[in-house]
Formats: sequence, C-alpha cells, structure tokens
Amino acid sequence: MTKATNIKLSKLETSTIEQEIIKCSPVSCMSCQFKGSIPTQYYQVIQLGLNDGHDDLFRSMKEQIGHSKCINISSELGDIICVARCPQCGSEEIFSDIYQPSPMMKHYVRIS
Ligand SMILES: [Zn+2]
Repeated sequence: MTKATNIKLSKLETSTIEQEIIKCSPVSCMSCQFKGSIPTQYYQVIQLGLNDGHDDLFRSMKEQIGHSKCINISSELGDIICVARCPQCGSEEIFSDIYQPSPMMKHYVRIS
C-alpha cells in the first residue's frame, strides 16, 4: 500500500521561467544521439506538507506527469523540475548541459 504524496507538481509556462533556467534545457539524447529540439517541460514543486524528500518527489513525478527522471533546479519560485523526453526514441536519457557552472543548479538527480 502506498501513501499519498505531499507534493503537487504545477506546470510552468516557459515564458514565465528565467533564462538561466532555460539554459539548462536538454541538448541531446544519450540513447539515440538525437540533437534537434527536445520538448522540455517545467514544473514547480509545491510542498503540501511533510514528505520523504526525493522518494516522494519521484513518486509524484511518476503519478502526476509520467516522468521518472528530472533535473532539480533551485529558483526564486522554489524548487523547479525540468523533464524531457526524446521525440525520436522516447528516452528520458537526455543530456543536459549541467556542467556549466550556475548558482541556480542545486543538484542533478536521476533515477531509473
Ligand atoms: Zn533519443
């Protein structure tokens, strides 16, 4: 039996997101090397109460938006997650240019 998560993921329009964050967008697919435009979605992580941290976040992602990998970005809006799926092969093994130093980047999280 699984308990409900205390996290709500609220979709953000790209136009409302700071350029610093958009720079973290995926640039290519690690599975098929697709390098075109990869649709990326951003969600604000809204904490509704105490939660188990990453376990809860990933469970919420799976249940609410059907993604299992994200980049977690710390911003003025609080935590934002960036999710993407390759339009060519459907993989979430998306490379993002996360090695560019940015104060925005809190951590990069991947699970299988
Ligand atoms: Zn791909």
